[in-house]
Amino acid sequence: MPLDPQSIRQDFPILKRRLPGDQPLVFLDNAASSQRPQSVIDAMTDCYENFYANVHRGIHTLSEESTAGYEAARVTTQQFLNAASQREVIFTSGTTAAINLVARSWGDAHVTADDTILLTICEHHANIVPWHQLAERVGCRVEFLLINDDYSIDTETVAEALQRLQPKLFAFTATSNVLGTVFPVQQWAQLAKENGATVLVDAAQAAPHQAIDVQDWDADFVIFSGHKVCGPSGIGVLYGREALLAAMPPFLGGGAMIDRVTVDGFTSAELPEKFEAGTPPIVEAIGLARALQYLQDTGLNEIARHERDLAAAAEQQLRDVEGVNLFGPRQSEKAGIVSFTIDGVHPHDIAQWLNLRGIAVRAGHHCAMPLHEHMGLTATARASFYLYNTLDEVEQLVDAVKQTREKFA
Ligand code: PLP
Repeated sequence: MPLDPQSIRQDFPILKRRLPGDQPLVFLDNAASSQRPQSVIDAMTDCYENFYANVHRGIHTLSEESTAGYEAARVTTQQFLNAASQREVIFTSGTTAAINLVARSWGDAHVTADDTILLTICEHHANIVPWHQLAERVGCRVEFLLINDDYSIDTETVAEALQRLQPKLFAFTATSNVLGTVFPVQQWAQLAKENGATVLVDAAQAAPHQAIDVQDWDADFVIFSGHKVCGPSGIGVLYGREALLAAMPPFLGGGAMIDRVTVDGFTSAELPEKFEAGTPPIVEAIGLARALQYLQDTGLNEIARHERDLAAAAEQQLRDVEGVNLFGPRQSEKAGIVSFTIDGVHPHDIAQWLNLRGIAVRAGHHCAMPLHEHMGLTATARASFYLYNTLDEVEQLVDAVKQTREKFA
């Protein structure tokens, strides 16, 4: 059954917001961060109002209830990812924190000056800078797979690079946050395995829009953020294959990640606590679990189809506007992201003009400077759709883009 965005919109209180001039909000900045349904806000408020305490430590009722809520969130997340064990689900503060954890813990332990880390040119800075930093520490090389003119990367190119470079790690995004390109994770992970590489998948732009089965993908690390899946900010998920996580040294040290501390040293806790030093994002985990349930109840395949339809409609109409340039693969191969420029108009001016009409889009390099540089651009404007957006909002976007062109170009 197709989604009914009008009924979904009723679940999201922020979408009732009026902007200056009493304009309705047209929120098309979902790739940066999505909005939350009332059920997520309620779950978090319920925790704060009724059973909040620190987890894993207290022998009192509130602590036991908070711990139960926090650990239940881990089970929900495990099921969302189809991970084999709860021990494979680590809560972090976000995708960036999770990739840094892997770079520091796994990277420092396994990567040497002779090694190569293979990335794609489409990566968000969160999946580039930690590897540059690792290279600064250990002297390894960081190599990039480039995109074709049609914004794709063919399997042969991936296979050839893996064979030639024999990278220690192949770290790639499942979905480009600029182009919307959806990469074949399972196929690439398989090729990487055949060449002895460990695989990290940045699923920050995939988790909001598609069902993820980490066992099917057969990747070693899979990572996403709560705030892009209708959940709270301040929480992210690191899935790691249990054997790998168990062999990795802890990243941050402090409370909760230890088994025993003496004046001479410490021993680490078991998984997953080993990687959750300090007070974790307790309420955020509870909110995240509710968000994942909301997406699953709505239907991830239906969400993906709805966004693709909106993006296809937007692209089809924008293509006809003189001076508009679109960046990304054919619609059937991409997520609900439309990045564009208008000849003679700076993307920041586009975003500002659209904002005057109540339309929120993003302008800039979207934390993907190497990709923009590769495309010969400094910035693009990006409209990104989610389950609560409508065809009417697409029309408003297209009209506002036409007006932008008339005003500035
Ligand atoms: N990776 C991708 C593909 C993203 O789109 C983003 C956020 O935009 C990130 C990583 C970073 O996520 P966070 O800021 O939640 O750590």
